[in-house]
Amino acid sequence: MPAFWTEPDFDEHELVQLVHDRTSGLTAIIAVHSTHLGPGAGGTRFWHYADPAGAMRDALRLSRGMSYKNAMAGLPMGGGKAVVLLDRSGRKTPEMLAAFGDAVETLGGRYVTAEDVGASVADMVAIARRTSHVCGLPAEEGAVGGDPGPFTAMGIFLGIKAAVAHRLGTDSLGGVRVAVQGCGSVGGGVARLLAGEGALLTLADIDADRARNLAAELGGKAVESNQIMSTSCDVFSPNALGAVLDEEGIARLGCAIVAGGANNQLARRGDGALLAERGILYAPDYVINAGGIINVSLEYLSRQNGKHCDIDEVHGRIAQIPARLKAIWEESDATGERADVVADKMAQELIGRG
Ligand code: NAD
Repeated sequence: MPAFWTEPDFDEHELVQLVHDRTSGLTAIIAVHSTHLGPGAGGTRFWHYADPAGAMRDALRLSRGMSYKNAMAGLPMGGGKAVVLLDRSGRKTPEMLAAFGDAVETLGGRYVTAEDVGASVADMVAIARRTSHVCGLPAEEGAVGGDPGPFTAMGIFLGIKAAVAHRLGTDSLGGVRVAVQGCGSVGGGVARLLAGEGALLTLADIDADRARNLAAELGGKAVESNQIMSTSCDVFSPNALGAVLDEEGIARLGCAIVAGGANNQLARRGDGALLAERGILYAPDYVINAGGIINVSLEYLSRQNGKHCDIDEVHGRIAQIPARLKAIWEESDATGERADVVADKMAQELIGRG
């Protein structure tokens, strides 16, 4: 295992565990960044990494992001994340899921897992056969739990509206031009909600058919995935993978606002400065994309304490995302400090690391 404590992304993580199960072939890293506010909660990413160091970086960065996200969402949860290192073929077997569930169980609730990229509700069901420290399990229509994607999309949609009001001074999305990168669970949901309020959409996905079909359904325009960041628009909404906001990517942006759901959008912490230099309003990713974890955390807590949680509680908490973003932007406007720095400081304070 790479010496994680010398990694630049190591941030006094409470626990970093390598899991290897010879029988199933499972290799995974579970990272718990902070349990200051509660169990370290965050999804499991199933991914083929070119090298183990990349997997370690992901586990360290994503788990820290979860501490910040859960704290800023007002949840009684700490931050954790797991990555499962798949082989080149992306093979994921029931035996691997069982071994992963066993590994989560040995942590006794310090880490609570859920879906992330490459994971499905069915995977969580398989993991739940071995541990109770899992959420994002199937839920009845209108009940708490299940696929976090639509809840994440709702929070992002509300966050985009708040950003448009703050930067463009209008409460209406009618005619507002939004470029959406990634048309999967989150991006597709965001696009549908935006279209419902009259936004003008440009869509892109590396799966070109997916973008074309969604554009046809919503009356938007599909472009090649390498063109979306330079599309002239009011809002660029990144909803694919992280680290798209690097020096080269930021230089290409043709927008006034960046507001989307991808985790770890800034390639490096300092890249927020490049956005600020270009006068682009940034919605910190872990604040705007908290809708899904709000839903599955409340599902987990209600199962653990045996108390019913109403879906209105989830929607009520998601509805607070715009106010949190507004507080960050207002503080940023008042102090001249970048929005991403203001958000980090708020989150660090909440997890006792201020
Ligand atoms: P998904 O797999 O359903 O969709 C991702 C989409 O992005 C896919 O259609 C894929 O083809 C596309 N894509 C990948 N690389 C691309 C590129 N370079 N350009 C354009 N499109 C590209 O995943 P999702 O659940 O929608 O998650 C999207 C992002 O949101 C991820 O970064 C994830 O970590 C983050 N996120 C998801 C949730 C959730 O509830 N699902 C919550 C918080 C954050």
